[in-house]
Amino acid sequence: MSADWQQFKVLVVDDDAFQRSIVSKLLKQLGITEIADAEDGKAAEAELAKGYDLLLLDLNMPGMDGIEFLNVLSAHSSSPSLIFFSGEDGRILEVAEELARDLSISVIGSIAKPVSKEKIQRLLEQTAPQMTQTTARLTQSELTEDEVRAGISGGAITMFYQPKVDAQTLALRGVESLLRWQTPEGALIGPGAVIPVAERTDLIQALTLGIFTVSMTQLGNWLKQGFELSMSCNFSIADLVQPEIVEMLDGVLAASGVSPDKVTLEVTESQLPEDVSKVLSALTRLRLRGYEISIDDFGTGFSSMEQLRRFPFTELKIDRAFVNGAEQKPSARAILESSVDLARRLNIRSVAEGIETEADLNLCRTLGVDVAQGYYVSRPLSSNALEDWAKSWQL
Ligand code: C2E
Ligand code: MG
Ligand code: MG
Repeated sequence: MSADWQQFKVLVVDDDAFQRSIVSKLLKQLGITEIADAEDGKAAEAELAKGYDLLLLDLNMPGMDGIEFLNVLSAHSSSPSLIFFSGEDGRILEVAEELARDLSISVIGSIAKPVSKEKIQRLLEQTAPQMTQTTARLTQSELTEDEVRAGISGGAITMFYQPKVDAQTLALRGVESLLRWQTPEGALIGPGAVIPVAERTDLIQALTLGIFTVSMTQLGNWLKQGFELSMSCNFSIADLVQPEIVEMLDGVLAASGVSPDKVTLEVTESQLPEDVSKVLSALTRLRLRGYEISIDDFGTGFSSMEQLRRFPFTELKIDRAFVNGAEQKPSARAILESSVDLARRLNIRSVAEGIETEADLNLCRTLGVDVAQGYYVSRPLSSNALEDWAKSWQL
């Protein structure tokens, strides 16, 4: 049977002609037939219009190097997935992977030279099922302000739900609700095209109200059916500085019959403002009412110990950059480990997001993470799909 990745159209980018021919030969041996090559970033840029599924990219090249090329790639409308290969040390490959992910490029992984057939195959097989889906990325260019405004009142707000499971027992604990915006053409697009637009304009309040209403109505229905779970919702700082935020959330909960202790409000660490007083008072009032509060994407911002101590967080959610592939990335692993330790000392729950492989899950379990979330458990799902998933997940 031929694997999905054998159908990929692959571009090999390396300044060394000998390397290019070796890598191309190895790819052929793996059953990949559509292979082209380029000698540096410039040449690769010219090739991109041909629509590749996968790029194997050397980091160190004269002319345009691999890092510089990432900017070109992220600006390009087609978005092949990426494998780095390099003779540089592992730390540089790790940094390159992170840079690429910051640019929303889908990175499969890195190969240290010498490249071998086994190394390529392992990467392709390990990630192949996800890759075809990550290639069709949810990110797209931002909507206009008018499109967002029309969509909020026009029923564009659709929520998907991603399971969060107990890392030790794997029992379903709750879900995170994530925005999937329905375009007039019926396509679903990710939050990145919508939320930033709303944040820059006066639309974020109305959008958040819509999102929270859809999410809590769903949760209320599930709880009424006896489906016991909690729900995490993402909030922008722009929401939390609104004077009416507490009353707004209370109003939605009253209408949906959900109690606050079933709800976790996720606030992204890097958004925490310098002047914390408004956010601090809103979050403290919400915590007093029984809402759980999570610090999301932990590790990507610069919260001081002082901030962590002052905010009424009940959950620390470690960013996927320190979870996915952490076993092979000593610096990511170190941050993961100390974040789990910090949560334990603060006596709050630790959640690891971005668990994509069994190895990620096992490492998190070993380190004592409380809750696991990621593609390895499940992708975000529509409400119906989530119900089906939950039935088959119960062991
Ligand atoms: P987040 O809160 O950190 O949500 C997790 C993101 O990681 C989601 O992306 C999810 O689909 C993705 N993810 C989950 N598991 C994995 C995995 O194993 N591997 C990888 N690579 N990714 C995984 P999504 O849905 O595109 O959301 C992106 C961000 O947009 C969210 O990050 C959150 O900050 C924001 N967002 C989403 N929905 C809302 C919303 O309703 N309101 C607000 N204010 N922000 C939202
Ligand atoms: Mg979140
Ligand atoms: Mg997150």
